[in-house]
Amino acid sequence: MRDSIPISFAFELSNRCNLSQCHDLCPTVATDPPIFLNTDIIKDTMKYFGSVKHKCTIYFNVYNEPTIDPRLFMLLEYNMKHCGCAVSIFTNGWGVNQYMVDEFIKLNTRLSVSCYTDDEYNRIKQLDGVGSCNRSTLNVKVKQLYDAPATRTGVCLFPSVYGIINHKGQYGLCCRDWKWNHPLGDLNVNTVKEILVSEERTRICDELEAGVRSLDACKRCPFHGWGVKNDPYKG
Ligand code: SF4
Repeated sequence: MRDSIPISFAFELSNRCNLSQCHDLCPTVATDPPIFLNTDIIKDTMKYFGSVKHKCTIYFNVYNEPTIDPRLFMLLEYNMKHCGCAVSIFTNGWGVNQYMVDEFIKLNTRLSVSCYTDDEYNRIKQLDGVGSCNRSTLNVKVKQLYDAPATRTGVCLFPSVYGIINHKGQYGLCCRDWKWNHPLGDLNVNTVKEILVSEERTRICDELEAGVRSLDACKRCPFHGWGVKNDPYKG
C-alpha cells in the first residue's frame, strides 16, 4: 500500500491572479468566474498532517496568486497551531512590501518572488528577508501541453513526491495538467488520507515511477517531474 504523504503539498487557494489579464501564457483566466478552495478542505488536510506528525513543505499557490487571498494569514497561523509544516509562498510580489515580509517571517514562511517587470524586480530586491527574487517570464510549454504529440515516455516522480489540491477541491495529478483532466481524487467526497492510498493514485504513481505513461497529459508532457536527475526539459 502506498501510504506516504508527499514531501511537497500545494493548495491552490483560488482561480484568481491579479496579473492574469497581462499573461496569455498563464492558465489562469481573468474573465473566469471566481472559485475559492473550500477552507474546511484546507484545514482538515493540514490537521491530518499534524495528527500523523508529517512534516512537509506546504504551498498556497499553483496558478493562483496567494497574497491576494484574504484567508492567507489565517491559514499560516492555522498551520503553525495544528500542523507545523514549513510553508513556502511563491508570489508575483504585487502585494509585498517590507511590512508584509516581516509578517511572513514571524509566521515562519519563506517568500519566493517572481517579478514580471524590471521595476518590480528592483523594488523587491531592496526588501530584507525575501527568500528569493527572480525576474521571470512564463514558460510557453506549460500552456501548450495538450497540443503536443502524444509520444513522450519516461519516468516521472511528480505525483509521488508532490500533492496538489486544486481550487475546486480535486486532488490533481500535477501542476502540468493545468486543465485538471486527470484528477486522482476529490476532497469534496473523500479525505486526503483516503485519496493518498486509493487504487487510482497508487496505480498512477507506480506506473510513472516505472516509466509507463498511460494518461493523455503524461503522454504529451515534456517534463520528467520532480526528482528525476538530468531532466533535459527542466525549465
Ligand atoms: S508526466 Fe508530466 S503530466 Fe504526467 S504526472 Fe509527470 S509532470 Fe505531470
